[in-house]
Formats: sequence, structure tokens, C-alpha cells
Amino acid sequence: MNYRQFLAARAGELAAADGESGTPLLDACLILAHELGITRASLLARFPEPLSPAAIPASFEEAWARRLAGESVAYIVGVKEFFGREFIVDRRVLVPRPDTETLVAAALELGDAMETGERREGAAPRTLRVHDVCTGSGAVAVSLAAERPGWRLSASDLSQDALDVAAANAARLLPVGAAPLALSRADLLEGLAGPFDIITANPPYVPSGETAALLARGWREPPLALDGGSDGLVLMPRLIGQAFRALAPGGFLLIESDALQSPDIRDMFLKEGFGDARVWKDLAGLDRITGARRP
Ligand code: GLN
Repeated sequence: MNYRQFLAARAGELAAADGESGTPLLDACLILAHELGITRASLLARFPEPLSPAAIPASFEEAWARRLAGESVAYIVGVKEFFGREFIVDRRVLVPRPDTETLVAAALELGDAMETGERREGAAPRTLRVHDVCTGSGAVAVSLAAERPGWRLSASDLSQDALDVAAANAARLLPVGAAPLALSRADLLEGLAGPFDIITANPPYVPSGETAALLARGWREPPLALDGGSDGLVLMPRLIGQAFRALAPGGFLLIESDALQSPDIRDMFLKEGFGDARVWKDLAGLDRITGARRP
């Protein structure tokens, strides 16, 4: 047996256990590379080499059993790549999704446009203030802080556990000398005065029924990070109302959601008095981010 055959067999096993596992061969590679302490590229290079059962670490079988039971690869290997950086993740936080990179890209686009517009109008230079609510692992806030060291970033979460993970990611990923990421514990934006130029939000938006189904499939993500109530939109009106008050005039609120929820979120924005509603699509071409401006 060679490495390729071993991994293909394990991939087959995962596909049979969970038809929706998505990327069974990749999952097997990531977990074996992690347990062998080598990169995925070096594992790939070893594919044709013979693999003796003795070379498979016992820890692999333990890790693999967790994957077969539905746990995500990111929790098993302890890290997840997001916007070009490696974030620490564990069961205290939602695993950052590639779709959420669209939220970072939208905030960068808007912030850059705000700065360019102000420069063109001859306004005095100032520091852009950006807040990330429901920050979880801190993936969005830390990415923005690392991409734009001149901006002032803050972030909040209801979960102290999540804030601890976000702090670890900020310490690990922010460049030396960068302004620290200000973290606070808050129920959405409760008690946060602002004013902010941009607020980013990836709140829980999965309907309760779907959340229960995901947990039954073995997902280990905190329900607090997923469950958005009966239709997934329960938190949105409060978030949008609080953001209206915490934003500076001209400031933007950006919310990630499921594409089907985007029109409802747009309506909530307009009802609250926001204008200039926009949508950003994720890599699959689905409406992922809904945003609007406080006049
Ligand atoms: N996009 C995530 C999922 O599909 C949900 C994240 C969230 O609720 N904020 O599970």
C-alpha cells in the first residue's frame, strides 16, 4: 500500500459515513499531514511511496474518528486559513468560512473609497474607525487590522470564550507595532458608543431547525454562533437599530447572511432609515453581504 491508496481508502470511508462531507480526500490529507507534522505539499510528494501501517501515528486514528463523527477538519487540526492567514480555532468559535472573506473584501472596498473620497474633497486626514460585531475567532477584525494597519479596529462578542480566541489570533497575526485590536464583551452593539465608519457583522443567521439538523450531523460549532432563531433573522432588527446609532453619518453597516435572507435584510435597513443599500456576492455568485449607509 502507498500513501495515495491509504488516503483514498480513508476518503471512501468518510464519503460513505457522511455523504455531504464535501472534500473527503482533502480532509484525509489535512489530518494525516497534521498528525505526521508535515505540510500538505510534502504529503502529496510522498503519494507514490509505500506506507507501512507502523508509520501511521496512533493519533491519526483518534483524529480520524472525530472527523468520521462529523467534526470539522479545522477543529481537529486547530487552525483554519482565512484571507491568507492562519487562524487558531477550536470548539469555542465558529470556523471561519471562505464566504466570509467577501465581508472583509466589502469592508476594504468601502473603507478605501471613504478615504479616497475624503482626500479628494481636501478633508483633513483622519483614522477610519471599524468595528466587527459577533467577531468569534476574530477572523474579520484581525484580517482588516492586518490589511489596513492605519485603521482603528475594534471587535465585540457575547461570548467571553470567543473573545479569548480572538485575542490569541490578534496576538499571533497582527504585525509588530500595529495598533492593538480593542476587544469587548457585548450583546450585539449594546453599550458601544462608536462612532464607527464601518460596522461588519457575521451574526448567527441559520434558522433554528437547520441548526438542530447540523448539530445532529455531528457539527461541533457553538449553537450561539449559528442559531439565528426561527427564520435566522431574529437578531437583525436589533443589530440594525443599534448600528444606526453607533455609526457616524455616512457610515456603513455590512451584514453577512444567506442569499435568501438578503432582500429581507435590505427592507429592514430601509425601514430603519438607512440608504444606499448594496449587495456583494460570494465566490459561488450568491448574495452574501448586504450593506447600507447611514445618511
Ligand atoms: N455560513 C455559516 C454556515 O453555513 C453560518 C454562519 C452564521 O450563522 N453566521 O453554517
